[in-house]
Amino acid sequence: MSDISFADLGLAKEVLEAVQKAGYEVPSPIQQQAIPALLKGKNLLGTAQTGTGKTAAFSLPLLSTLNFSHSTPAMLVLTPTRELSIQVAEAIQSFAIAMPKIRALAIYGGQDINVQLKALKRNISIVVATPGRLLDHIRRGSISLAKVQAIVLDEADEMLDMGFMEDVESILKEIPKNAQRALFSATMPEQVRQIVERYLGEYEEVRIEGKTATVENINQRYIMVRPQHKLEALTRVLESEDADGILIFVRTKQETAEVAEKLEARGFNAAPLSGDLAQTLRERTINRLKIGKLDIVVATDVAARGIDVDRISLVVNYDVPYDTESYVHRIGRTGRAGRTGNAILFVTPRERRLLKTIEKATRQPIAPMDMPTGSQISEKRVIAFRKKILEKIEQGDLDIFRDLIQNLASETGTPLLELAAALTALAQESQPLFPEMQELPPPDERGKGFKAENTFGLGAEENKRLRKERKEGLDGVEEGFLRYYLGVGRKDRVSPKDIVGAIAGESGISSSEIGRIKLFDKFSTVELPEGIPDPLLQILENMYIRGNPSKFRLMTEEPPKGIKEFVVRRSTSRDSVFSRKGKSNSGRIEKTSSRRRERPFKESRGDTPFRKTRRFGRH
Ligand code: AMP
Repeated sequence: MSDISFADLGLAKEVLEAVQKAGYEVPSPIQQQAIPALLKGKNLLGTAQTGTGKTAAFSLPLLSTLNFSHSTPAMLVLTPTRELSIQVAEAIQSFAIAMPKIRALAIYGGQDINVQLKALKRNISIVVATPGRLLDHIRRGSISLAKVQAIVLDEADEMLDMGFMEDVESILKEIPKNAQRALFSATMPEQVRQIVERYLGEYEEVRIEGKTATVENINQRYIMVRPQHKLEALTRVLESEDADGILIFVRTKQETAEVAEKLEARGFNAAPLSGDLAQTLRERTINRLKIGKLDIVVATDVAARGIDVDRISLVVNYDVPYDTESYVHRIGRTGRAGRTGNAILFVTPRERRLLKTIEKATRQPIAPMDMPTGSQISEKRVIAFRKKILEKIEQGDLDIFRDLIQNLASETGTPLLELAAALTALAQESQPLFPEMQELPPPDERGKGFKAENTFGLGAEENKRLRKERKEGLDGVEEGFLRYYLGVGRKDRVSPKDIVGAIAGESGISSSEIGRIKLFDKFSTVELPEGIPDPLLQILENMYIRGNPSKFRLMTEEPPKGIKEFVVRRSTSRDSVFSRKGKSNSGRIEKTSSRRRERPFKESRGDTPFRKTRRFGRH
């Protein structure tokens, strides 16, 4: 990693202040390349995935150079999903923390349009939108793009893959010709190339090189985790690994302190290491780790540079590194002096692509690891506890305690074993030997029949394959899913992409949550997870697909009017979300097929709160 600092890049003073506040130490590789180009007013094509720091790569320079004095938006960002639009708008607002007049607004399908109409009346400087809803506003005349000076297409491949190509093109046509353009995409499928050719004009290209590098004698694993479970997962991993010295990598200075503090509070011997600390303190921390007075150091890349401590037997990438170079550098802190090292990479579903990039560059598969369970942790704690008791006995010096217990036993007539059990119970109160731990299922754990992967972070080919499988259908409805009817079909020139695009764009249900789609001439069916909240169902009922009312509804006993292909098929005994909602029964409609055999629907798990929430949202 080079030594370029944010201050070297020529960003506005206010923006630098915000970067400082965010705790970013150095620009990530994509930022080092993209920021100077965008500051010069160039158009940009960025091959970068989530986790590389691409949001700041385009936001920081555009905040520095655009003129935000008009009452209408100066900057527009298009994103594929509601969650990403909110996330990006929030990030931009935080980068504009020292620019009080700048207001970023996320507009996306699924939110009451009146709320957005009202918000758009207040001088909005930056709009971050999903294409469908933005087009809606353009058509209503509720947004003016006449003064847009820069447009960014974020996660272009995913956006186009979701069927937003036409919408994106319509929007691009509304943007002033001289506006600066940037497009970020993890992959470059044909559709993205088309957009680049047609709309990007002359551009500079920046990409994260997947430099190949070898890492030997390091046992590499990754753990798939939801962002909100990361800390809990970290503590479990730390407890379940037999490590000596441990180095944990995070992104920001604040995080080094936060994570170290939280680990300390949970009984780990941890300390932070960041550029914020004075050199002497940093040296002292590393020295304590070296001599075993400290077990865990939580560091940023910069602070950990050059750490050479043989004792480090585990490197945890708590936050994914920006690129392979950084990954190789990080895990190289273990496996020193001919020893075998361990490296564990935390990956959230949105960061899958980075995992693939790393595997490709290191030419080594990184093995998945399971989240340590309560019983595994329990086993470790019991072993450690037994060891501690025996060590204490070995050390001796127990006379007064022995007397105390002996007296208690004879006075009360309590057997010694009973007393030992009570003491054990007391001793483990702050760290139970048999903890009841919340289940942390991997984010992609789905019912049978659903692929382990989801559409996030997969390449175009894999996505295509998944879609194809979904389209062709396996037998019956996927477990945990319900089938819905849509009153649009092939005759309306509707494709599965249009359906995915409309559902994802309007409701914010992410593309990976949308199950199999079947297309017929006059209608189609789509499988969606159980437990969709009513407001979202209403949105889906009112949405349009390719200009046609969706006529979205749960498939009920009554076949849709005029449709003969369907017959009623009752599931035998199950209690689905649908029937629980008070409908008359849990009958389903299925396409007649002699090859199909009756298969009872799986028990609904929609009443598990976790399941209900986990089905939605991107991470
Ligand atoms: P993104 O790829 O834009 O989704 O960013 C991924 C994460 O990296 C976000 O949590 C950012 O706040 C963080 N991040 C971006 N740039 C930097 C940087 N230069 N230093 C530390 N963290 C960063």
